[in-house]
Amino acid sequence: MLNKVFVDEKSIDKYSDSKTLADRTRALLKYQIETWELARQGYNLLDSVEVKIFEFDDFEIKVQFNPGRIVSSSAKVDKDSISARPCFLCYKNLPEEQKAIPYFRDYLILANPYPIFPEHFTIPKIDHVKQQIEGNIEGMLNLSYDIGKYYTVFYNGPQCGASAPDHMHFQAGLKNFMPIDTEYKKLISDNSDILQETDEVRIWGVKNNLRRFFIIESSNKKKLIKGFRKIYDVLHSLNAHSETEPMMNILSYYDDKKWKLIIFPRTKHRPDHFFREGDKNILLSPAAVDFGGVCITPREQDFNKLTKDILIEIFRQVSIPEEIYEYYNKTLMREISSSQS
Ligand SMILES: [Zn+2]
Repeated sequence: MLNKVFVDEKSIDKYSDSKTLADRTRALLKYQIETWELARQGYNLLDSVEVKIFEFDDFEIKVQFNPGRIVSSSAKVDKDSISARPCFLCYKNLPEEQKAIPYFRDYLILANPYPIFPEHFTIPKIDHVKQQIEGNIEGMLNLSYDIGKYYTVFYNGPQCGASAPDHMHFQAGLKNFMPIDTEYKKLISDNSDILQETDEVRIWGVKNNLRRFFIIESSNKKKLIKGFRKIYDVLHSLNAHSETEPMMNILSYYDDKKWKLIIFPRTKHRPDHFFREGDKNILLSPAAVDFGGVCITPREQDFNKLTKDILIEIFRQVSIPEEIYEYYNKTLMREISSSQS
């Protein structure tokens, strides 16, 4: 019974007297830390994670040694492994203590018991349908609108870090925890191409020595979705043969009455370092949060080993190369100007 996983509204009232979804979501986490041993342990562990910071010219990357993330970072996501396990995002398989806030009839908001963020949520669809952004981008924007006061909503593509590629889900984490949440304006002003600029929509391509990505900003949801669609189609044009969507990670914000999407196109799921033997092996499997500037190493030896040069090398392998970025940029600019004329 689906209703059985819904949190009893009264039991979270004591954590917040506000009825906004952002506050209810925060209250759910407090409730789970008190009532669910696994969540309590997970958030306790977070107090002791080690962090080191690498400064680049106009941005920083934090590296977090977080042993709680070993399962997620090393998850086997091939078809056979996925079909052999019970789906941990299906509501009927949730641990008894885990409770959800339903988001309309579509999603469940759940406290993530293996946090990266001081407040971290997993937001699966109620139905077991595959991970894909097509058809779900509006849901992502709606979620940002409703919980964006405190949280950044993010999406990992089925081949880009989603540990359940068979079950559609977003995640959300405390806003301004990822460096990019506050750095993006500077990144735009330092090295970007403006691809579209109207009263209602702005699209940029941004590049630096670590990442190449796109940003769309708009206060009009329909126009933002249209802009996203253009980017999606251009990314798809080079991946038309693929069975799945173009590889990407997405961050979504709602701030100052505007939505903002940051889209990181990808070429690879995991860098070579992930598969190397012995001393050269580094367990770092980049996904949205890593692209947002918080790289997760679940093993201490990798945390110690990581240098700025290794980070650059890892991102070089999993990001799109500069020539592909330039191609996307030109194609997008052409598409946008032809659709406006
Ligand atoms: Zn499922």
